[in-house]
Amino acid sequence: MPDVIVIGAGHNGLTCACYLARAGLDVLVLEQSDTVGGCINTRDLPDGRGRLELGAYEHGGIRGSGVAADLELETRHGLRFHLRDEVTLGPADDGARIAFHNGLEETLELLRPVVGPSETDAYARFAAWATAGMKLVGSLDSGPPPSFGQLAAAAQATLGAEAAPFMQTLLGSASAVLRATFEDERLMAPMAHWAGHSQQSPLDPGTGGGGLMLAAFHGAPAARPAGGSRATVEALVRCLEAAGGRVVCDAAVSAVEVSGGRASAVIAGGERHVATRGVVSAIDARRLLGSGGLVAQEHVPDRLKRELRRVHSGLRNVSELKVDAVIDTLPQVEPAGFDRAFMLSANTITDIEQAFASVQLGELARRPPVMIAFPSTLESGWAPEGKAVAWISTFVPWRPADGAWDEAKLEAAADHAWSVAERALGARMGVVERRITGPVSWVARHGNANANPNHIEMSIDQLLGFRPTPSLSGYKTPIDGLFLTGAGTHPGGGITGVPGRNAAQVALASLGVGSRGARLARRARERSALVRDAWKATRELRSAS
Ligand SMILES: Cc1cc2nc3c(=O)[nH]c(=O)nc-3n(C[C@H](O)[C@H](O)[C@H](O)COP(=O)(O)OP(=O)(O)OC[C@H]3O[C@@H](n4cnc5c(N)ncnc54)[C@H](O)[C@@H]3O)c2cc1C
Repeated sequence: MPDVIVIGAGHNGLTCACYLARAGLDVLVLEQSDTVGGCINTRDLPDGRGRLELGAYEHGGIRGSGVAADLELETRHGLRFHLRDEVTLGPADDGARIAFHNGLEETLELLRPVVGPSETDAYARFAAWATAGMKLVGSLDSGPPPSFGQLAAAAQATLGAEAAPFMQTLLGSASAVLRATFEDERLMAPMAHWAGHSQQSPLDPGTGGGGLMLAAFHGAPAARPAGGSRATVEALVRCLEAAGGRVVCDAAVSAVEVSGGRASAVIAGGERHVATRGVVSAIDARRLLGSGGLVAQEHVPDRLKRELRRVHSGLRNVSELKVDAVIDTLPQVEPAGFDRAFMLSANTITDIEQAFASVQLGELARRPPVMIAFPSTLESGWAPEGKAVAWISTFVPWRPADGAWDEAKLEAAADHAWSVAERALGARMGVVERRITGPVSWVARHGNANANPNHIEMSIDQLLGFRPTPSLSGYKTPIDGLFLTGAGTHPGGGITGVPGRNAAQVALASLGVGSRGARLARRARERSALVRDAWKATRELRSAS
């Protein structure tokens, strides 16, 4: 009988399970799908025809968060990262190439001939400012999230006079901050596209922080696992098994039993699994505790029911379409080496604003933002000799205006995204073999409403101490021994492992496992190091201005 059952073997469920198992608990992870990983989904084509990265691509988050190091994924469990200085490329339709290098100085050199000296200087100032602010926000990732009041106080303490404009930026839209800073629409486009990872228009309030992300992270190389994204989850599974835990696939949890106010067992595939100490859900709070969820409503307090009714995803009708293909030849990409970069091609900020408006109306955007990558540029083994593999992702309506998604609509949307990518790259990409993953297939893969990879919207009313609801933001539920993790908890989506680690720390403290002093000391060390970084960045900002 396991001590703890974790529901869902996405990377956060697995991360949480690893921390729990390494603290000495007997952990069982139950996964509905036939493979682990959730949004991470690398697949081999039969007969050596190639390998496709159907899901998430970049893994800098789990390396940067320290989770990979904590769990010894590289040193003991076989994970190896390809690190790249060519971080992001924004190919525009007129041939402009907006390149973001790991180094700020290198980026300025690359930008100057494309957008001119005045925009390049504006970018240098913006990057210094964004770095100081986002260091502060990053310092709050570990542990249960602060309220906005606490964030404002921390901003005041570290950023001084810049605190008010920084808070205004976080609460405002990416479009507002970018349009106030730059003039070149092509330079703004990739930064606005980054903000769109929250599945919101850059015009939406609360996307301002997303608009700072590209500029704020110079100094950290991009990272991608050797062998593809599945290598990260495979390393997590090895880590879990080394600590005595295990994962069972094809085991969809249909109920969490509560007895005497405690989570005591789960039902999966008609089988009852008893958990002697607790249950952690890595699926979102509504699917766990909402009406029709895994926990019977008699155990959910009325106040929490009201909070859960306010949780949202899909308000803007945004969903995801992936197109993966073996292609006949790798397109020529400038600047040199940036064929390895992750490409955010939105063309102009106006185009991406209009694209989200079209999607909200249920239409395909005329010029949708497309993310493009070529995993075969980083290592061999992805495509037959002389060929390459393309990874393309775009936003599409969850509910098309002209009726539900069907094969013909998916093909048409994929063709459109493909031709947009070809125009942006200025190259034809001949398809040898293609696979389309539309909104409905995504839901079948991971079960998230509207195929939202962040589980619930990353909107300003669902961040920090509001994620997923005010009373659930500490990873605990009102039911003893029932905890929450996953992208629907702080700090949200992306491959960081941070929600998994935070939830494990809360669960261990609640279950009285491990030394409280050691946990508090570690958290204090992390926070003070990050606040020190924010101070340093602020001093640099002041001396630069
Ligand atoms: C196409 C795409 C590209 C992306 N690109 C990137 C990227 O490049 N970089 C990045 O950082 N992030 C990226 N993301 C986002 C990132 O992948 C996700 O935010 C993150 O992986 C979510 O992880 P998770 O473990 O919280 O949840 P999920 O990955 O959603 O995992 C949840 C798991 O729970 C399982 N489950 C659901 N219901 C049940 C049940 N009843 N019983 C048992 N199991 C259940 C699911 O099958 C799934 O395995 C991308 C996402 C997508 C879809």
